[in-house]
Amino acid sequence: MVMHTVDILRQAVRTVPDFPKPGIDFKDITPILSRMSLLKLAVEQLVRPFREENITKVVGVESRGFVMAPMIALELGAGFIPVRKEGKLPRETYSVSYDLEYGSDTLEMHQDSIRPSDRVLIHDDVLATGGTAAAVEDLLERSAGEIVGLSFLIELSELNGRAKLRHRDKVRSVIQT
Ligand code: AMP
Repeated sequence: MVMHTVDILRQAVRTVPDFPKPGIDFKDITPILSRMSLLKLAVEQLVRPFREENITKVVGVESRGFVMAPMIALELGAGFIPVRKEGKLPRETYSVSYDLEYGSDTLEMHQDSIRPSDRVLIHDDVLATGGTAAAVEDLLERSAGEIVGLSFLIELSELNGRAKLRHRDKVRSVIQT
């Protein structure tokens, strides 16, 4: 039987129970990253929906979004923009705080990284509750770039993170759980 690309990738992801804390089923993507053939398949799948979309910037979310976002950017002929945790970027930033299960978190992006004419693809490894991606949507709102898509390697469908996103119709995930 021929296995479909997505099933090959799905099987390579390791689910680690109770990491980093009890009750979380952690999706470990390092077995995909460590094999060139799987890494190539993953990047191909991530890029495919956006090939004809004239993307000019790929925004990656710290820290696991940093792994594939630059590869996606190179494939699409776009630049890479990092969204980082508070206090890491050296110049003027836009900043958005959002609620976590316990407490809150802040994400930042350089103010001059996106121009109004930019066509932006947001990338992170996992879409879980959607809080992080919604915060990145807010950052992009401040910088006036157009969000053309949101790309995830894994979408945890049972958490319905999409529902939190303003651009939920533009979400493309390679693996849905
Ligand atoms: P959320 O804001 O809940 O959508 O969480 C998204 C962020 O948390 C992403 O940057 C993921 O890297 C990380 N994350 C959340 N849940 C998981 C999980 N079960 N396995 C791996 N990473 C996760």
